[in-house]
Amino acid sequence: MQILQNISLKAYNTFGMDVHADYYTAITQPEQLAAITADASLPAKRFVLGGGSNVLLTQSLHGLVLHNKIKGIEKIKEDDEHIWVSVGAGEVWHDFVMYAIANHWAGIENLALIPGTVGAAPIQNIGAYGVEVKDAIDCVTGWHWDMKQLLPFYNDECAFGYRDSIFKHQLKDKVFITSVTFRLNKKPKYNTSYGAIEQELQKMGVTEPTIAAIADAVIAIRSSKLPNPREIGNAGSFFKNPTIPATQYETLKETFPTIPSYPAGEETVKVPAGWLIEQCGWKGFRAGDVGVHEKQALVLVNYGNATGGAVWDLSDNIVKTVHDKFHITLEREVQVW
Ligand code: FAD
Ligand code: NAP
Repeated sequence: MQILQNISLKAYNTFGMDVHADYYTAITQPEQLAAITADASLPAKRFVLGGGSNVLLTQSLHGLVLHNKIKGIEKIKEDDEHIWVSVGAGEVWHDFVMYAIANHWAGIENLALIPGTVGAAPIQNIGAYGVEVKDAIDCVTGWHWDMKQLLPFYNDECAFGYRDSIFKHQLKDKVFITSVTFRLNKKPKYNTSYGAIEQELQKMGVTEPTIAAIADAVIAIRSSKLPNPREIGNAGSFFKNPTIPATQYETLKETFPTIPSYPAGEETVKVPAGWLIEQCGWKGFRAGDVGVHEKQALVLVNYGNATGGAVWDLSDNIVKTVHDKFHITLEREVQVW
C-alpha cells in the first residue's frame, strides 16, 4: 500500500476544488483497512472518498484520504423472484446499473447516470425519478474503525430516510463501506409515472417499457437538464428538498399561490428547493467563477477556479434569502469538508 503525501484532490472531486490532502492512499482490498487501523504512524483523522460527487472541499485536508477503489461483482444467490448480488464499494454506480440491466435485473434502472461509487449510494440513500436505492439494498458491509472488524448492516438497521441513513448520523466517520449486497428483481415493476419519463418514452417510440428503455429515458432527461461535471464543476443538488408542515404550506400558498408541493407523510409536504431558490432570483446567478446553474437552481457550480469557500458563502446567502422570503431553512445535501 503506497501512502502519498501532499496530493492535489482537484481530479478527485466533481466540483473540481484544488485542495491538497496531507496523506492519500487508494484502497483496493478491505484487508488494507485493518493495516491502516494498526499503523500508529498514520494520521488518526481519516477522510473516505468515493467519486467525490457529493463533497465540497473548502480547505486542505489534514489527515489521510482513503480513496475507495474496491472492485468486484459477485452473484450470491437467487430464487424465482429475486437475485442477490454483492458489489465492491469502489465500483462506479452507473456502471453497476448498466451491468444489472444487461443481466435483466430490475430495480435500479431509474437511478441511471447518478455519479459516484456503489459504496456511497447507501450513505444518502441516493434517489431519483421516484426510486430510492434503499428498496434494492439487502445489506451494507463495512469496516468499523472502533470495533476493528468488518460488520454487516442489514437494511432495517440502516435507518434509511429521504437522502439519509445511519451512516450520516450514529455511524458518521465510523465505517468504511466495503461492499453492498443488492436484492434485485427478476420480474420488473416499472416506475414511469415520475416527471418526464412517460413523455421521453413516447418520444423514443417505446410503447412497452423495458428496464433498458427506462434507463435510456432517464439518461436522456438527465443529460438535457443537468450540468456534466466534466464540463462545469458541481455536486448535483446542493440542498435537500425541505419537508414542511401542511399547515405552513397552506399559509405560504396564500402569499405564493403557485408554490409547488408533493405529498410527504401524513401532515407534511415536500417543497422543491429549486423553486424556492429560483423565486429568490438566484437561477443563473454568477459572480466570478461561482454560480447557480442556469437550468437548475438547486445546482451550484464552479465555472473554473472558484474556491470551496466561495461556494459555501454563496450557499449561505441562498439559505438566508430563502429563509427571509419563505421562513423555510434549507439544509445542505452536499458533505462539506
Ligand atoms: P463522495 O462524494 O466521494 O462521498 C460522499 C460522502 O460519502 C462523504 O461523506 C464520504 O466520506 C462518504 N463516503 C463515500 N464512500 C464511502 C464509503 N465507501 N464508506 C464510507 N463513507 C463513504 N444524488 C442522488 O441521490 N440522486 C441524484 O439523482 C444525484 N444526481 C447527481 C447529479 C450530479 C451531476 C452530481 C454531481 C451528483 C448527483 N448526486 C445525486 C449526488 C452524488 O452523486 C451521490 O450522493 C453519490 O452517491 C456520491 O457518491 P460518491 O462516490 O461520489 O461519494
Ligand atoms: P424535477 O423533475 O424538475 O423535479 C423538481 C423537484 O420536485 C425534484 O427535486 C423532486 O423531488 C420533486 N418532484 C418532481 N416530481 C415529483 C413527483 N412526481 N413526486 C415527488 N416529487 C417530485 O427534478 P430534477 O432536478 O430534474 O431531478 C430529477 C430527479 O433526479 C429528482 O428525483 C432528483 O432528486 C434527482 N436528482 C438528484 C440530484 C442530487 O444531487 N441529489 C441531482 C440531480 C437530480 P425529489 O428530489 O425528491 O425526487
